[in-house]
Amino acid sequence: ARARADALLEGLNPQQREAVLHAGSPLLIVAGAGSGKTRVLTHRIAHKLATHQVRPGEVLAITFTNKAAGEMRERVEQIVGPAARAMWVSTFHSACVRILRREHETLGLRSTFSIYDAADSQRLLTLVGRELDLDPKKFPVKGLAHRISNLKDELVDPEAYARSSGASAGEANQFDEVLSAVYTRYQQRLRAANALDFDDLIMTTVNLLQAFPQVAEHYRRRFRQILVDEYQDTNHAQYVLVRELVGAHESATPGELTVVGDADQSIYAFRGATIRNILEFEADYPDARTILLEQNYRSTQTILTAANAVISKNPGRKEKRLWTAAGAGPQIVGYVADNEHEEARFVAEEIDRLGDDHDVRPADVAIFYRTNAQSRALEEVLIRVGLPYKVVGGTRFYERREIKDAIAYLRAIVNPDDDVNVRRILNVPKRGLGERSEAMIAGFAERERISFGAALDRLDEVYGLSPRATTPLREFAGLLAGLRELAAEAGPAEVLGAVLDRTGYLAELRASDDPQDGSRVDNLAELHAVATEFEQSDPEGDLSDFLERVSLVADSDQIPDADEGGDAAPDQGQVTLMTLHTAKGLEFPVVFVTGWEDGTFPHMRSLADPDQLAEERRLAYVGLTRARQRLYISRAAVRTAWGVPNEFPASRFLDDLPDEVVDWRRRESSMQALRGSGSGWGGGASAWGGSRGGGGTGGGAAGRSGPVTTRKGAAPVHSGTGRPVGAPRDAGTPSFGSGKRPVGDTPSLAIGDKVTHDSYGLGTVVGVEGGGANAVAKIDFGTDGVKRLLLRYSPVTKL
Ligand code: ATP
Ligand code: MG
Repeated sequence: ARARADALLEGLNPQQREAVLHAGSPLLIVAGAGSGKTRVLTHRIAHKLATHQVRPGEVLAITFTNKAAGEMRERVEQIVGPAARAMWVSTFHSACVRILRREHETLGLRSTFSIYDAADSQRLLTLVGRELDLDPKKFPVKGLAHRISNLKDELVDPEAYARSSGASAGEANQFDEVLSAVYTRYQQRLRAANALDFDDLIMTTVNLLQAFPQVAEHYRRRFRQILVDEYQDTNHAQYVLVRELVGAHESATPGELTVVGDADQSIYAFRGATIRNILEFEADYPDARTILLEQNYRSTQTILTAANAVISKNPGRKEKRLWTAAGAGPQIVGYVADNEHEEARFVAEEIDRLGDDHDVRPADVAIFYRTNAQSRALEEVLIRVGLPYKVVGGTRFYERREIKDAIAYLRAIVNPDDDVNVRRILNVPKRGLGERSEAMIAGFAERERISFGAALDRLDEVYGLSPRATTPLREFAGLLAGLRELAAEAGPAEVLGAVLDRTGYLAELRASDDPQDGSRVDNLAELHAVATEFEQSDPEGDLSDFLERVSLVADSDQIPDADEGGDAAPDQGQVTLMTLHTAKGLEFPVVFVTGWEDGTFPHMRSLADPDQLAEERRLAYVGLTRARQRLYISRAAVRTAWGVPNEFPASRFLDDLPDEVVDWRRRESSMQALRGSGSGWGGGASAWGGSRGGGGTGGGAAGRSGPVTTRKGAAPVHSGTGRPVGAPRDAGTPSFGSGKRPVGDTPSLAIGDKVTHDSYGLGTVVGVEGGGANAVAKIDFGTDGVKRLLLRYSPVTKL
């Protein structure tokens, strides 16, 4: 055991070793990215176990994601064996669930309590709103949900809020009064339902530990080693939870607390995380030991220089010296694309080339973007060139709820008898229609042998419908009828715009101050762009042609991932796509960070707010420091949202990069060259400075990005920095469906035909579906398995 413990210390630098060996007081490890913080935590646990300073059951390690927890547990298990399973390694939320399930009696909860997710709690809030007779337009459910969540992050319960807001003394303003009443009632109903929402998990555990000293003491005796990774992103409730579990001042024998973090990587302020926790750790724990780690083991010097250059512009931070022995490594490659499609194509071609020239496998590559909506253009090109990929921490574009809702509307417009889709949208957005009314109509439709949609036109005959349900049902039927009329003469993009407008779907998302709804708006803008591109590439196409096109792309989305037992070559793995937020803590040999435009990254919402801008800068630091050997940065001169191509200036963060670290393969877009704007990204950054942060949408507190108009033909207005480009795309712009293999070049294939594919080699056609531009072939590539390929996008040649 001794030898094994010693081996654990080898391969650590002196500071890391000190951190592993430290005992007797709280320990704070602060260090920049890639300096081995997570590795130190893992080794510290393993070392304490191997030297019998602690038993596995006495370890509580908190990580930011379940995936990180799994990895840490596995690493420790590899080092000390299966006994490690008794450790608690989990996220804050899972640890709290475990505690609450054990202590439910103390709290008067049944052990079977349910955990409400965001959708559940919004449903409950809708009920509460109705009960209190609130106008949902004045007090949108999402906004209330967000506020209540923030209060819970701050450990403010309904009574405390009633006091602090003045509501209990009748001195609050109207909003605070309503919020106070809603919060109180919401908590009562949660309790009555034997349910806890997500934020309750933490708050209730804290309450438990504070209200029942004997329970707190039990856990303080139990957990002798408490370790928290990514400490900079803990919120106040989590901070207090840790303090209670350690019991530094309350317990005679407090456990040992180790926290590791990097103030420069704090990227969840919007969720209530506060770097105050890390900055004031020393004040809160006066006997704490602080260890700095300065050697980075992850990245090349070039990558570090770039990351440091960006982060050093943030005000009020502690300067850190981060160095690496890895050598300079290749220059960062920069690329300015004309638009998002060309940017995606550059990325895909570069991945291909890296495979050929440097043996880089798809699994070695990650592509990051600021918002989920940006994955769509990337996904389409990856599908087209046949590069296997997975989207981590997000749903693939066409599986996202808002996209499915919008498409369900379009299908219901095209096909009134499409029962599944008509019923999907019956109460989306909420129209106060219950399951009872739906069941009555369904019953009537069945008896009359007509579709559900047709039954909506004969509401008078449906027996027993309450008048309360009849009005919204009639409105819904009228809405669909109106949209169908529009679809008879307008293109898909206009119809989609009308759907989002007339249903109030978009307005509801815009009014919400939940950041997730912001990205839903972005995603819908992206779908609108798909429709616009479709109209341009296929001016004759109508709504049903558009839906056919979409379903094919959505369908190739379904090709299973390699690690889900799919047939993609498993040894090569998949390219990983994710948002910058999701990338925290991870590392990849090759990283592409895309979308370096002011208004994209930094995000539009942050441009006018120095605090938010500082957070965007930390996000840039996180993104750049994920790369081990090769780093790519790219931007698109024009991005399309809501059918309006907007010209974006270069990200201001690019200005900070020293010239010598970036090899600009292409410095300006051809459009900028044509306009003679001259100096490439550098000049662009200031050219639009005047409009920065201006012209906000005025809606929602968060100042959503996105269009002011969704109408085709209306003046292109754009909030924020994006500059509308007067003319539509120039002729050379690739659009949806064009690319390496233009329309018209689709090989016509029959079962039995022999083909070659650029990546998979020789294959035999075993199935054909659809025709013309939409033809899909199933091709057996032998050891590579059977693939389903959309022919116009695939490099397939008939032999
Ligand atoms: P982040 O801030 O991004 O979370 P981190 O500080 O947690 O980074 P780790 O992920 O622990 O850093 O380490 C980064 C990389 O460096 C990992 O691949 C890790 O195995 C490696 N590493 C850390 N310390 C050493 C060391 N002493 N010798 C060799 N490799 C090391
Ligand atoms: Mg880490």
